[in-house]
Amino acid sequence: MIEMRSDTFTLPTPQMVSAMTQAVLGDDVYGEDPTVNRLEELAAGMVGKAAACLMPSGTMANLAALLVHVPRGGKALVGNESDIYLYEAGGASVCGGIVYEPIPTQSDGTLAMDDLAAALPPDPDDPQFALPGLICVENTHNRMGGQVLSQVYLAQLRGFAAGHGIPVHMDGARIFNAAVATGVPAKHIAAHADSIQFCLSKGLSAPIGSILAGDAGFIEGARRIRKMLGGGMRQAGVFAAAGVVALTSMIDRLAEDHELAAQLAAGLADVDGIEVDASSVTTNIVLFRVTAKGLDDKRFLHAARQRGLAMADFGHGRIRAVTHRGLSSPDISAAAAIVADVVREAD
Ligand SMILES: *Cc1c(COP(=O)(O)O)cnc(C)c1O
Repeated sequence: MIEMRSDTFTLPTPQMVSAMTQAVLGDDVYGEDPTVNRLEELAAGMVGKAAACLMPSGTMANLAALLVHVPRGGKALVGNESDIYLYEAGGASVCGGIVYEPIPTQSDGTLAMDDLAAALPPDPDDPQFALPGLICVENTHNRMGGQVLSQVYLAQLRGFAAGHGIPVHMDGARIFNAAVATGVPAKHIAAHADSIQFCLSKGLSAPIGSILAGDAGFIEGARRIRKMLGGGMRQAGVFAAAGVVALTSMIDRLAEDHELAAQLAAGLADVDGIEVDASSVTTNIVLFRVTAKGLDDKRFLHAARQRGLAMADFGHGRIRAVTHRGLSSPDISAAAAIVADVVREAD
């Protein structure tokens, strides 16, 4: 199977497996797993924050961030196409009594200042308004096709947020894809946010884990929330060891994933009955539409799968294909050929 549903399908590398079997372990709820401590220190430095906390998933990392930043009854301004708003089971409302205020997402993944300003209460002293406690941005932006938020935009957002005394959280699940695609170090990107989460378990190929990073007081709060949510883990060094390998040896190779995505987009652009904006593909996510007559997305995906190609339905008539370490250039050529085949046969 050519697996393009997600970069979460990446398997740990042999080096990771070996590191996992040799990891020095302790009880991380006591703060005494040396491998977790090493990973957290390394990770914090890489995103330029004072402290970091290992989380079981990106979902829990984002949830902890919201719960630390926003008081009960407060609002989190989130993109209407963001992972936090769409794919995280409403956790901040359920666990924290937080109101999500969805903000329209622009095609480049940004939230417009005007739209953010419109979500602020006209009079913060008027007790009928929920107060905004956080702005969340996503970088790279999954549902906008892996777009990277520009440094210019992020600086503008940071200025806006600071002007209103509101912190910024970056859902940087694929922050190193953004860094590799632009050549801007992750810490310079994260500098525009008070807190950031990123996934070790996507293109970086670790089996489990996300990092939440921020200042020391914030991370202290996040550790308490992590325990409350059931995310306090004992010998977590077993998988933190793979995280260390991910951060020390798996970042630069993300460029290969980006090249494969560009190759796929170019291949799909040549297929009649497929609509793709190849110029918007800058990281490892390709979104496209099936416009061939007599072929809806469900049938397209089913037919592709029968030919050995797995892609994902992405709503709004879009299909998502994600590139990762488990794919090669011949796989991409084969994938484009399968798509062409499926479309031709529907004719
Ligand atoms: C994958 C992802 C998450 C959630 O990470 P999990 O580890 O799957 O919970 C959050 N945000 C974005 C943008 C993601 O792509």
